Amino acid sequence: MDPEQAPLRLTGMDEKEAHDQDFGVHSRAELVERDFTDLQIRRMAANGQLSHPARGWYATPNANQAAVTAVSKHGCLTCVSALIARGFWVPPGYRGKTHIRGSKRHRTDKDFCLGFGPALPVTSAVDDAATALVYAAKCMSAEDWIATCDSVMNTLKLDRPALQELMPVLPKAVKRLMERCDHDRQGSPIPGDLRRRALRVGRSARRLSCVHQEGSASCPRGSR
Ligand SMILES: [Zn+2]
Repeated sequence: MDPEQAPLRLTGMDEKEAHDQDFGVHSRAELVERDFTDLQIRRMAANGQLSHPARGWYATPNANQAAVTAVSKHGCLTCVSALIARGFWVPPGYRGKTHIRGSKRHRTDKDFCLGFGPALPVTSAVDDAATALVYAAKCMSAEDWIATCDSVMNTLKLDRPALQELMPVLPKAVKRLMERCDHDRQGSPIPGDLRRRALRVGRSARRLSCVHQEGSASCPRGSR
């Protein structure tokens, strides 16, 4: 099928996962990864199939507006907003603000979430759950974060080590909070297929990052 006529979707995932993960906002690298050429991307932007909210970013007409806002500000949706966009349970009181993290040059822009350690690359419009949780540890109360983290672990059928493996950084503060998460689950067996599926979902965005940055040593921990 002509890629210009095909619905935009993530590769290597089943249909439900693609639906869950596709927010309608794509970097040029992501589109190229899905076999669109630069000429096709320009044509789709010219005829209105894609808008162009920022350099290197394209959005479909029904794109998630919070994600469009994030890339237009040189960042991506993260933290509480990414968790909400991905359908995880988040306690009341966190929906009034769009949580964005910036690319390296824009990391400290006004109102952006700061997270821990050096700036992470921005390679997709909406952070995966593990990355979003790390950022959310600075924006949520401890009790609310623990409840949200439990929700993520239950939804993705991940135990604590598996979720930590997906996190791009593992600050002591996050480790301490996770020690208070869902103790009953610790040590319980996770079926291999569920675990592999969850790992694949969590890694999809970072896999694109590593393809894009091949040859550099900057791929985040746990991305391979
Ligand atoms: Zn935040």
